[in-house]
Amino acid sequence: MSFLSQTLARVAPSPTVAISQLAREMQAAGRDVISLSAGEPDFDTPGNIKAAAIAAIEAGKTKYTAPDGIPELKAAICAKFRRENGLDYGPAQISVSTGGKQVLYNALMATLNPGDEVVIPAPYWVSYPDMVRLGGGTPVIVEGAAEQGFRITAQALEAAITPKTKWLIFNSPSNPTGAGYSRDQLRALTDVLMRHPHVWVMSDDMYEHLAYDGFRFVTPAQVEPQLYDRTLTVNGVSKAYAMTGWRIGYAGGPEPLIAAMRKVQSQSTTNPCSISQWAAVEALNGPQDFLADRAAVFARRRDMVVARLNGCRGVTCAMPEGAFYVYPGIADCIGKTSAGGARIDSDEAFCTALLEEQGVAVVFGAAFGLSPYFRVSYAASDAELSGACDRIEAFCAGLR
Ligand code: PLP
Repeated sequence: MSFLSQTLARVAPSPTVAISQLAREMQAAGRDVISLSAGEPDFDTPGNIKAAAIAAIEAGKTKYTAPDGIPELKAAICAKFRRENGLDYGPAQISVSTGGKQVLYNALMATLNPGDEVVIPAPYWVSYPDMVRLGGGTPVIVEGAAEQGFRITAQALEAAITPKTKWLIFNSPSNPTGAGYSRDQLRALTDVLMRHPHVWVMSDDMYEHLAYDGFRFVTPAQVEPQLYDRTLTVNGVSKAYAMTGWRIGYAGGPEPLIAAMRKVQSQSTTNPCSISQWAAVEALNGPQDFLADRAAVFARRRDMVVARLNGCRGVTCAMPEGAFYVYPGIADCIGKTSAGGARIDSDEAFCTALLEEQGVAVVFGAAFGLSPYFRVSYAASDAELSGACDRIEAFCAGLR
């Protein structure tokens, strides 16, 4: 019998982390690789946030904290939810964790029993299905096809719900497609949830501040206030404030759920990093005007990358509403052979050959549950993006 747990055998390592690591190793070995595989802003953390962390260290705020967040950060999060989302949460309804990832993980660990089902729209963030499996639950995948802007329909959601459904995990704007749900599109889904009172919604709002062309971000508890008592509204500072390494995520939700998540956290990581929590207080309470400036830079890059990818033979790329990803389709490339002699029979084969032959790291669509596509992160410099697009164009032109 294996020493490792049977639960772990059901779980795959994160393909995005694996590809980023491979690209780093190739670079370390002297290969010229442009990596568009990572999901993090290339901007630096703003100076006022760094200064708050340094001040926290100097002031000796370097000890254990309350398990799910210092009162000052909880107050800042309550204010953020009120200011930006029109949601009223008290401090006892707030949980702070080591990244949004741990918030989601804690919530699933705190609620799932064997056999419980979790509805996950595809393409999905790679970690959702595996986190559900780690918690003993069963992911139920609902496809959001390209023709529907990678959004799921109300009918598809309705059809996926069973008496065993515990959660819908909702993510807008989305990783990996950048697709965002308008108020009306989200309303169609919340209407379905209103007919199924046993289903809760975990809304992953991580890309809230990365929205373009006037797209108005909305979150389920805001669109349908009657869902407030069965919604966990998840967010974090990683993407908006360029703080991926600081590891602070948070959520607002019903008090008993938050208490259960606190129990999980108190027996695993104890508390999120004290210094990062003080930095997050400054991120949420400090100046917010740079968010729009950075979003404008991302919007410009998005426009450039979408135009360039649509110019590549066999590639079609939709214009997304937000995040910093595009999800081009490569159906017309499948069945061909690359200039280097690789048979392109899947999006994974496409991405592997692209990395080996042209030194561009992107993530294959199968990792996100919808093929044949690949994900490009445009959180990279203009020079890197344009160089990568040149190489993708050359790679596609070489397919026979
Ligand atoms: N949710 C989505 C959709 C993400 O893309 C990510 C990070 O890639 C996370 C959650 C986790 O973010 P954090 O760095 O706060 O753990």
